Amino acid sequence: MAEQDYYETLGISRDASQEDIKKAYRKMSRKYHPDLAGPEFEDKFKEVNNAYEVLSDPEKRRMYDQGVDPNNPNAGASYAGGFGDIFSDLFGQAFGGGTASAAPVPRTQRGRDMRATMDVDLKTAVFGGVGKVTINTYAVCDECHGTGCQAGSQPKTCPDCGGSGVTKHVSNTFLGQVVTQGPCQRCEGHGTIIDEPCPKCASHGRIRTKRTVSVNVPAGVDDNTRIRLSNQSEVGENGGPAGDLYVDIHVLPNDSFTRDGNDLHCWLRIPLTWAALGHTTSVETFDGPKELKVAPGAQTGDEISLPNLGVADMRDNKRRGNLIVHVAVETPLDLTDDQKKLLRSLAASRKDDAYVPQLTGEVRMPKQQKGFFGKLFK
Ligand SMILES: [Zn+2]
Ligand SMILES: [Zn+2]
Repeated sequence: MAEQDYYETLGISRDASQEDIKKAYRKMSRKYHPDLAGPEFEDKFKEVNNAYEVLSDPEKRRMYDQGVDPNNPNAGASYAGGFGDIFSDLFGQAFGGGTASAAPVPRTQRGRDMRATMDVDLKTAVFGGVGKVTINTYAVCDECHGTGCQAGSQPKTCPDCGGSGVTKHVSNTFLGQVVTQGPCQRCEGHGTIIDEPCPKCASHGRIRTKRTVSVNVPAGVDDNTRIRLSNQSEVGENGGPAGDLYVDIHVLPNDSFTRDGNDLHCWLRIPLTWAALGHTTSVETFDGPKELKVAPGAQTGDEISLPNLGVADMRDNKRRGNLIVHVAVETPLDLTDDQKKLLRSLAASRKDDAYVPQLTGEVRMPKQQKGFFGKLFK
């Protein structure tokens, strides 16, 4: 089943007011309530409720308008290519045989929906932005403008079926005469034939092409978020409307920052002296250089939180997560003789030689700020 369009489900336009939405919901929920309409309308009733739940909430509606379904934001894994089903629901009935009321099958058909994947770097996921995705698709034939006919000609009524798209076949059996009817072979059920096909598209009204589509990436977007772009997929045959394009976002890993929810995590290596004495420095973040204070007595594994420098919340862009800096104290590897002398006199002054080490089950650093060491990073 295709993903539903919530506006279509409620029968309202994309700029409907909250009042319109409420009104439409009252009408639709009465129409499809299973107690009134019958149990076969249960799914339809659920769709109406889903639509109302999203569109009546201004934040969810904003997300939905950006192409992300708040009821199913990580749809990437569950894509079921069931679009053929709707297709046959719409057009297949005419071929079902026996449905006497079957009108000719229109030549104009809606294009298929398509899916594409787009890589987005972490910074774009944090702030939002515009990405591009290139798809192999169909565009309207520029020679015939979608009619499929040579310039100046047009489809003619099929002489075999007289335009009905259906032919009857009478056969004599031992039970008597049996009349069967099916789609006309000559016009494939369309009721019309194109005797002068467009040379460029061979009567299909569309040609294969590559197209690059711009995709608005909402701030705070997560890996596997699906964005729906209405009518950005291939155009249909003979001037039919385009299908929808579903873009699955893949957020690329970043060398410096790792995302956990709306927080970003990173490591910071600091010299021994900064750790012991404290130090104020500047670090490069997605928001540019920011002041960072290392407190005196900092230990490996300490966390320094820089508020509001994390990822924007997709439901409320004004709210952002934090940037959490994990401290790693670096033991110097390249001491000169003079520096060794200094450290020895420091050791003597602190009576480090008299320190009696003990083996313990876990490391307990004095005054450690929030033990987090090694949880996220190996
Ligand atoms: Zn053409
Ligand atoms: Zn025909």
